[in-house]
Amino acid sequence: MNAPLAGKVALVTGGARGIGAAACRELAKLGAEVAVTDVLDDEGKALADELRQAGHRAFYQHLDVADEDSWSDNVAKVIARSGRLDVLVNNAGIGTFEDVEAETLDGYRRLIGINQVGVWLGMRAVIPQMRAQGSGSIINISSIFGAVGGFGGSVAYHASKGAVRLMTKNAAIRYAKEGIRVNSVHPGFIDTPMVEAAKGTDMEQAILANTPMGRWGRSEEIATVIAFLAGDGASFMTGSEVYADGGWTAQ
Ligand code: NAD
Repeated sequence: MNAPLAGKVALVTGGARGIGAAACRELAKLGAEVAVTDVLDDEGKALADELRQAGHRAFYQHLDVADEDSWSDNVAKVIARSGRLDVLVNNAGIGTFEDVEAETLDGYRRLIGINQVGVWLGMRAVIPQMRAQGSGSIINISSIFGAVGGFGGSVAYHASKGAVRLMTKNAAIRYAKEGIRVNSVHPGFIDTPMVEAAKGTDMEQAILANTPMGRWGRSEEIATVIAFLAGDGASFMTGSEVYADGGWTAQ
């Protein structure tokens, strides 16, 4: 079996569905032991069961990325159980549509708490273990909307994903000499539960018209990028922003 990630332990946030679930499947398939984490406990447990039944190593833990204590508990449990932590995929996220005037302060703060603060809390929680090991790979899921203004809506989402992009570069520089690589992945529009509301609407037409490949991406097409960054094949990559967007940002 081709198992380039054998011996590595990975924690994936928002792993119960969508891109996170695909990342859990790909990392496990390549030999990593995977901590599937989410706030959707039933779906997360079902995925961990599915992976174990397929002969992989996986377990589920409840992790709310916006909660500081949840992070310290989860990381401590993974280290107690598996003895190490090699890969963090900061994937959990929520979306909004509101533009600058329509967004509310509560809505803005909630989204930033998950999509932006959650990513920082995650890096802060795992880095001490990675420093002690002298190695680690952190993959932060940003978006094409962390780099361009999109349709002019979703102000909080754009703010959070732009912050993830630069937080990644900052942390990459800080830990470059300690064996910890930090990279961001920028998906275009991917067919997951997050974008379900757009299906069959004018928004879907606009999305497809603005994607040079003219189709939705699949979660598996992001999972393979995440797995590459997790592995030693990406050993000279840090602070990079990797786009898998059907050509969106080439325009
Ligand atoms: P999704 O809604 O299908 O899955 C997101 C997962 O995150 C869910 O399982 C959800 O329960 C979990 N989650 C939400 N809040 C959480 C919290 N506080 N703590 C822990 N888990 C939480 O979305 P997706 O499309 O798979 O998105 C995954 C990531 O990819 C997100 O960061 C998203 O912004 C990003 N992204 C998605 C697209 C897209 O088109 N789908 C495009 C670019 C970037």
